Amino acid sequence: MKFPRLYYLCTHIHLIKITQNHMVLFSEDHILETRRRGRIEVICGSMFSGKTEELIRRMKRAQFARQRVEIFKPAIDTRYSEEEVVSHDSHSIASTPIDSSASILLFTSEIDVVGIDEAQFFDNGLIDVCNQLANNGIRVIIAGLDMDFKGNPFGPMPQLCAIADEVSKVHAICVKCGQLASFSHRTVKNDKQFLLGETAEYEPLCRECYLQALEKDKQV
Ligand SMILES: [Zn+2]
Repeated sequence: MKFPRLYYLCTHIHLIKITQNHMVLFSEDHILETRRRGRIEVICGSMFSGKTEELIRRMKRAQFARQRVEIFKPAIDTRYSEEEVVSHDSHSIASTPIDSSASILLFTSEIDVVGIDEAQFFDNGLIDVCNQLANNGIRVIIAGLDMDFKGNPFGPMPQLCAIADEVSKVHAICVKCGQLASFSHRTVKNDKQFLLGETAEYEPLCRECYLQALEKDKQV
């Protein structure tokens, strides 16, 4: 059977459109929101890279699909609100603050999708907890800083990336040069690894600008 030329052209354009749409979003188009299947997704990156926004986006989509969702965050993170995960641009979703990763297992018997925000502040027990949840058919979505302000892997994040089914590294924009930024440079003098803050304490930088900033810091 012979198709007119126009048909080929239209089909081709349609396929291109679909491919482009797939590129815009994260690779979750293949995830069936309504089917219960255990998996671990990690969203990592520097400060201001949109990790929490992406976590909230995925959790809200799961909610639309009538999945039972719950977000946990470390009790240490009290920047904005005790009971809500709040991203820097104020999109928020209700969450449960907990002291240790083991507590997550106590709350998840009736849950389809577990979200974990600021995962870098949790203990290393979180690795086992996430595996247990996923093995029991729960979708686990983890957001966290992959590096601390010194550029070292942060808390349980490297191990969580290793056991994840899917890792999305998101980037901020370097405030010095406009390139993609992977580093969180601390702008105040303080050597504590756990220093929670916003724009005043940190700036996102690319590798080159980060190294220059560290050199400058040494001279002060
Ligand atoms: Zn830069």
